Amino acid sequence: MPPPPHGREATLLPADAPGGPGQGQQHRPGPDSTAYMCPYCEAVLSNPAAAQCESCLRPLPQQGTPVLRVQFPTGELKVSVGQHLVLGRDAGQSPVAATFTQYDNVSRRHSTVWLDPSGTAWVRDEGSTNGTFVNGERLPRGVEAPLRDGDQLRLAADVTGTVQLT
Ligand SMILES: [Zn+2]
Repeated sequence: MPPPPHGREATLLPADAPGGPGQGQQHRPGPDSTAYMCPYCEAVLSNPAAAQCESCLRPLPQQGTPVLRVQFPTGELKVSVGQHLVLGRDAGQSPVAATFTQYDNVSRRHSTVWLDPSGTAWVRDEGSTNGTFVNGERLPRGVEAPLRDGDQLRLAADVTGTVQLT
C-alpha cells in the first residue's frame, strides 16, 4: 500500500491570501495602515513608508510615485501626479477621446481626473450633459470628489471604469 499523501497541507494558502475571490469588494473598518505588511516576514508595518522593516530589517520596496489608473471596457487610462486628464469624446478637448468616441451620451468635454502630490485622486464633472457618477452617485457639476482604489467611475449611462490607485 502506498503511504497516504501528506504534501497537501503544506500547499494550502491562508484563508485571507490576497487575490482571492471577492477581494477589492470588501471595505474593512479601521485605518488603512493596518493593511500594510512586510512582504518578507509579514509583520504589520506601523510606517509603510519606512526604508526597512522594523521586524526583519530587510529593505522595503518603495512605493515610488503613485499612479492612478481607470480601467474602462474600451481602454485603460493612466494618470501621473500633477497631470490633469480630461475625459470626453472630442479629440480637441480630451487626449483620450478615442476611449469614448463610441459612446454618444458622453459629452465632448465630460470630466477631469487627476492625482495630487499627496497621492489622492480626484474627479470633477465638467458640466457634462449626462453626468459623472462615483459608485452610482451623481456628482454636482464642478465639484471635486475623491476617488479611491476600487471605486466605479461612470460617465453618462453606460461607460463604467474601475479606479486603481497604486
Ligand atoms: Zn519584515
